[in-house]
Amino acid sequence: MKITVVGAGGMGSRFAIMLHQTGHNVELVDGWQDNVDAIRANGLKADFNGEPVTVKLPIYSPAEVDATGEKPDLIIVFTKSNQLRSMMEAVKPIISPVTYVLCLLNGIGHEDILEDYVAKDHLILGITMWTAGMTGPGQVTLVGNGDVELQNFEPAGEAFTKQVVQVFTEAGLNPKYSENVKYSIWRKACVNGTLNCLCSLLECNIGELGSTTVAPDLLHTIIAEFATVAAKEGIDLDEQEVYDHVAGTFTANIAGHYPSMYQDLVKNHRATEIDFINGAVWRKGQKYGIPTPYCALLTQLIHAKEQLVGAVERTKAHV
Ligand code: NAD
Repeated sequence: MKITVVGAGGMGSRFAIMLHQTGHNVELVDGWQDNVDAIRANGLKADFNGEPVTVKLPIYSPAEVDATGEKPDLIIVFTKSNQLRSMMEAVKPIISPVTYVLCLLNGIGHEDILEDYVAKDHLILGITMWTAGMTGPGQVTLVGNGDVELQNFEPAGEAFTKQVVQVFTEAGLNPKYSENVKYSIWRKACVNGTLNCLCSLLECNIGELGSTTVAPDLLHTIIAEFATVAAKEGIDLDEQEVYDHVAGTFTANIAGHYPSMYQDLVKNHRATEIDFINGAVWRKGQKYGIPTPYCALLTQLIHAKEQLVGAVERTKAHV
């Protein structure tokens, strides 16, 4: 299968390396020029569970995407949510009528962007529990295990999506064909919509958040806003199960972990994905006439913090 990974950050690099290792024809597109230059010069370098791995893959910057070559069967998008539209604009020339686009980004509502570039029946959505981190341009750390849950957005895409499941199985990505991926996407968004923004604003890790007396009330209220809006989209979130799932992280082995939004905003001063997490709930709530005051406040506070640390300017300049 010819696969183009759009966004060669931590996760894009993980999927690209694992798919390349099973013999698929993988190429990369990335918007960070330093990263493009490093991968082109030295290959994509990974610390893969403690083993050094270097793979040579073709990589293109958005300006270099060429409409004339062989078009991919599958595009896997792994930008940050806030980079998705500009990267889809850039790769528009390589999307043919038979190209499928798979989106495993954290958050809600990416299909609203992707539908502008690919037919709905060529769209595959999912979530992944794999993790990855960039340690510098062209360098990633890939530790531990994970899985992928995916489903075609429309029934017509089922056969190809099952082919992708097969390809991912061969690559060791542990995929599962989902019968209700939208539920899983909203459930995971509740994790990000509580832990990510609260730890970023409070500048604490997951366990420290859990040690505060207000954490249970914050979680219940935010999850209730997600569930009320999700219900309008036909998704019946089990609020208590989702609460237990999120609160369970307070004492799990990830309690000492700082969520990705904290890493982006507090540590690296990068813009966040808040508009596709709490911001998406706020936006959809306005559309359905549902008040979501906690999601609205959290979104605005994160945007204020982005501005105070100069994250917006940095994103514009670098991505
Ligand atoms: P990433 O930040 O590593 O990479 C995304 C893009 O940002 C890439 O194009 C990369 O080149 C660019 N980038 C990275 N550092 C940069 C810098 N300092 N300056 C300018 N550009 C930079 O993102 P990711 O962690 O691969 O996440 C991609 C998507 O997958 C997101 O939606 C994320 O929420 C989701 N996700 C991530 C993980 C994880 O463990 N990283 C797990 C599950 C889902």
